[in-house]
Amino acid sequence: MQLFATLRSRLIAMVAALLAVTIGSVAVISTRVAHYEIRKFDVEVHAGRAPRMPAAIADYYRAHGSWIGVQSEVDRAAQTAQADILLFDGQNHLVASSNRALRDAHLDLATDGTLTIERRTPQGLARELIRGPQMVVRNDPGVIVGSIFILPPQRGNLELPATRSLDRSFFWTFLGATIFGVLMAIAIARWISVPVERLTEAARRMESGDLAVRVEPAGGAELAELARGFNAMAAALDRNEEQRRRMVSDVAHELRAPLTNIRCDLESMQDGLTEPTPERIASLHDETMHLAHLVDDLQDLALAEAGRLEIDAQPVALAALARRAAAGMETRARERGVTLRCDGGDDVIVLADARRTVQIVTNLLANAVAHMETPGEVRITWEQSGGEAIIRVADSGTGIPAEELPHIFERFYRVDVSRSRATGGAGLGLPIVRQLVAAQGGRVWAERGVGGGSVFSFTLPIAAKTLT
Ligand code: ADP
Repeated sequence: MQLFATLRSRLIAMVAALLAVTIGSVAVISTRVAHYEIRKFDVEVHAGRAPRMPAAIADYYRAHGSWIGVQSEVDRAAQTAQADILLFDGQNHLVASSNRALRDAHLDLATDGTLTIERRTPQGLARELIRGPQMVVRNDPGVIVGSIFILPPQRGNLELPATRSLDRSFFWTFLGATIFGVLMAIAIARWISVPVERLTEAARRMESGDLAVRVEPAGGAELAELARGFNAMAAALDRNEEQRRRMVSDVAHELRAPLTNIRCDLESMQDGLTEPTPERIASLHDETMHLAHLVDDLQDLALAEAGRLEIDAQPVALAALARRAAAGMETRARERGVTLRCDGGDDVIVLADARRTVQIVTNLLANAVAHMETPGEVRITWEQSGGEAIIRVADSGTGIPAEELPHIFERFYRVDVSRSRATGGAGLGLPIVRQLVAAQGGRVWAERGVGGGSVFSFTLPIAAKTLT
């Protein structure tokens, strides 16, 4: 239904209905209870009086054998008793009343002796209950021929029944409570719906490209949590978008330098300015290889980040993988006067993808060798620690400033750009390492070496059957 299409209108309707039902039932029940209590009170009060028995009325019946003409006797008795007197015959019909007004009233004498008098007063319908009769007249065989009710003298005070004013106050209380309920319903609905509307508005703005939008947490713990979740999501999207922009520009930047070199070299050869000597062709080949590596790295990274990297985890001896990586790096290390040393037990069996693990160690070794300034040693060590193996690659090279350490695993991040370019790096090696390690269930981190240089460590899970 269009009327209750919004969350706010539904909340208002629900809360208002709930309050109306609750307040209404409380009002009805309490009115009933109050009426009942008042009636009981009336009956008890009236029954508790000890009226003077108008014996003359009974004598009248005995003398005349009927009630005909008893009215004047009833009037007299009423005067003596200083109270109104009602006389009913054996069939509970009114025979005489000392009060004229009561003759027009609706009188109902129940078999249990309770007399209900109902009559119209200027203030409304008045009802009175009297338990009795105060005197019963019997004929000779002992059959009841008359019931005499002596009404309490202060009956006038009860003519506006307390129940009426009670009903009125209940009505006002109910009305007041309902208005209050509706206002509360509006307030509650606003309290819940406003934060939801803000979130919707923020989501729309985000959809139209405004990733800087944030919402203020409000409207109770759950909604505030939702708003915080939304903000976290918006921040993550914003960050990702920023990273994507940076990545595109970084990739363009990285491709431009080697492509420019290749183009310039080729153009000058075309123009006959330079000869295509074997050295120049080798240099062109190097640049092309660099581009090919860059593209490979980018593809690896893209696959890893999309979680689509294929990992073939098998139990494998870590020693074999470390030595394979070291052997592959041997020539480059020797050229720089660097010795590679492997140190660790042959019995450390990890559950890992052999090819990817060799790639990780090779990347770390390549960095370590590249950053050695003087001939020295690069150590690869490994050990088992609980359910995981820790592999470390330590060098005694330039080291990484402490403030750079948190960033070096970011894409295209280079501490020393010129040096990194010279060594052919594009700042993709460590991000790839991080992704490859994470894909195998491990962690990676970098520290400054104790005696200078850097230490890169990563973990791999130990193969289950070697766990004791
Ligand atoms: P690159 O391909 O440029 O080497 P990496 O992602 O492998 O990129 O490394 C990021 C940066 O971290 C490097 O540019 C370098 O400045 C720094 N770095 C990495 N490993 C070492 C190391 N062993 N010693 C000193 N600096 C290092």
